[in-house]
Amino acid sequence: MGLGALGSAAAWQLASRGHSVVGLERFELGHSRGASHDTSRILRHSYHTPAYVRLTCEAYDDWARLESESGESLVTVVGGLDLFPPDCAISPVDYVDSLREVGIAFDELDVAGIRGRWPQFHPPPGTLGLYQERGAIVPAARGTAAMQRLAASAGASLLASTPVTRVTDHDSYVVVEVDDTDYTCRGVVVAADAWTNQVLAGLGAEIPLTVTLEQPTYFAPPDPTAYQDLPVWIWMDEPSYYGFPCYGEPTLKAAQDCGGPVVDPDDRTSEPDPEMLDRLASFVGSLLPGAGPVVRSLRCQYTLTPDRDFVLAPVPEHPAVVVGLGSAHGFKFAPTFGRILADLVTTGKTSSDVSAYGFDRPGLTDPAYEANWMV
Ligand SMILES: Cc1cc2nc3c(=O)[nH]c(=O)nc-3n(C[C@H](O)[C@H](O)[C@H](O)COP(=O)(O)OP(=O)(O)OC[C@H]3O[C@@H](n4cnc5c(N)ncnc54)[C@H](O)[C@@H]3O)c2cc1C
Repeated sequence: MGLGALGSAAAWQLASRGHSVVGLERFELGHSRGASHDTSRILRHSYHTPAYVRLTCEAYDDWARLESESGESLVTVVGGLDLFPPDCAISPVDYVDSLREVGIAFDELDVAGIRGRWPQFHPPPGTLGLYQERGAIVPAARGTAAMQRLAASAGASLLASTPVTRVTDHDSYVVVEVDDTDYTCRGVVVAADAWTNQVLAGLGAEIPLTVTLEQPTYFAPPDPTAYQDLPVWIWMDEPSYYGFPCYGEPTLKAAQDCGGPVVDPDDRTSEPDPEMLDRLASFVGSLLPGAGPVVRSLRCQYTLTPDRDFVLAPVPEHPAVVVGLGSAHGFKFAPTFGRILADLVTTGKTSSDVSAYGFDRPGLTDPAYEANWMV
């Protein structure tokens, strides 16, 4: 249940394997109150552990499968540049070692090397650039809609404006309650992101989650042609920022990572925050001085576990109820997570390595665990 990117991917995978699937979504399909709307998301190999880098290899393969089955071009390879300023909060060593261990080629660039390739960037002296040529953009709303279309054409019923009020486990079957109907099923995938704990309450389960309200923002460079060949980029410090080249429109998108306030997803604004806007515009003005004026901002929710790792596992003592949660970096893995969640809910196992994403890890069980979202 939940038909953002993850639930749509699971519905697609389950229906295409011949299962009888009902997808339940509390709002309209494609709504903008969750995390899977808007234009673009980053797909990349570069990550801080070899396990993550290996999973990104699966992500590229699964996006290719989605492209092939949908007949849509979804992955736009533009290259990816991770920027590590001197004494940054995020260690470049972890990234370099992880990419090396998995055998993913990359270039290490100093400031002259970065500016030689992309004079649009003005990083401070001593910044290290890690460039990986497969860094890419995937479309958020369009990719999610493509998975919904495939799910529906494989026989899934996708029901919008259908909020689940409770899930209860009866050992040999699970009951999913909505206002006027109870659905009895063999298994449930909970992909409710910011609302996960509401849905799990009927099972007595809870995940320590923090929801923040983020603010992607679009800038209009006076000469957009000069910004078409930029890579996607991530500023690996605290605060951390990221951005995109022109993608489908003559604008540059950028945002702070984990820069927004903690919110209740049922009681939050959709209006832009001027203070966040100023902070971002000032950073973008220094890194990409030609980015131009702000043209629009929107809001989008991050749902974060304390260790920023995913949840891809059955609820303890309820093997028929499987949770998928992307911890605010899960879009790139959506087609992969759909496959994994479909495996887990139907067979209890999967060929992908999800050992780090269970309910039993310190990040979810230890109340004294100190949250670290800068990874
Ligand atoms: C600004 C921003 C930038 C990001 N950038 C990247 C990036 O570059 N790369 C990347 O990989 N990831 C990125 N992410 C993270 C990624 O987008 C999310 O991890 C992913 O989209 C989450 O998908 P989801 O389906 O789990 O959540 P959602 O899209 O929020 O979907 C959950 C759905 O569950 C529904 N729901 C909730 N409760 C119920 C209920 N009771 N009954 C029925 N339905 C219910 C909700 O209405 C919602 O539609 C970004 C996220 C944001 C916000």
